[in-house]
Amino acid sequence: MNERTWCLDFGHGGVINGIYQTAPKKMYKFPDGELAYEGVFNRVLGNIIMHIANAHNLHNVVICPTNLDLSLELRVDFANSLHKVYKNCVYLSLHANAGKGTGFEIWTSPGQTKSDEYADMFAEEIIADFPHEKFRRDTSDGDLDKESNFYVLKHTNCPAVLFENMFFDNREDWDKMKNPSFQGKLAECIVRVMRKINDLNN
Ligand SMILES: [Zn+2]
Repeated sequence: MNERTWCLDFGHGGVINGIYQTAPKKMYKFPDGELAYEGVFNRVLGNIIMHIANAHNLHNVVICPTNLDLSLELRVDFANSLHKVYKNCVYLSLHANAGKGTGFEIWTSPGQTKSDEYADMFAEEIIADFPHEKFRRDTSDGDLDKESNFYVLKHTNCPAVLFENMFFDNREDWDKMKNPSFQGKLAECIVRVMRKINDLNN
């Protein structure tokens, strides 16, 4: 067992005094007037993950413990500072998708690193737990994750995985994303993999 320090990054901002901090981006207004804020969903899910992780005594640090939409530079600097001290950080960035598709995606930086090994473990568990949801895989390089130079993936000095959990501008996906039992099931699934990764000897 090789204890990791989990850096939990809640993507974008929350709501302060009625004002969505990432507006007008990363939000969607449905025809019936309902507003979906990605950053709020990322925080709801992230906080459940944090509580379950704490119950299992997993070392974790919330990288954006505020409703402010902290810059990506601040988030990555914080994680890299933690990694210097704790040596064995893993960065999990929580997001949701837009573009009216459906389902899950998991992203790593290009090339084969430990991030890909971990991303595959998360992907396999999500596919097993959510067999009726689409898992949008990238089959070009034979593994399940998609690869991109997203800032938080490229500039973190530790393994980093970015989750796009469902589509906040798709009514069916959004209804699930608001459902506490769906949120809890997804958080349980993610923490189960965090525990499996902790048990790896690398
Ligand atoms: Zn996002």
